Amino acid sequence: MGTIVCQACEATIGYFEDEKVTTLYGKCDCCEHDNEGEERE
Ligand SMILES: [Zn+2]
Repeated sequence: MGTIVCQACEATIGYFEDEKVTTLYGKCDCCEHDNEGEERE
């Protein structure tokens, strides 16, 4: 089973099926917003 982990806050974003244990890094919703600009402080 694979796990998707946020590379910024290390929160577990989700899981996906895989033959072996795999970890992918991505961005959770919260951290993704940080990357889109600074509309909010
Ligand atoms: Zn995050």
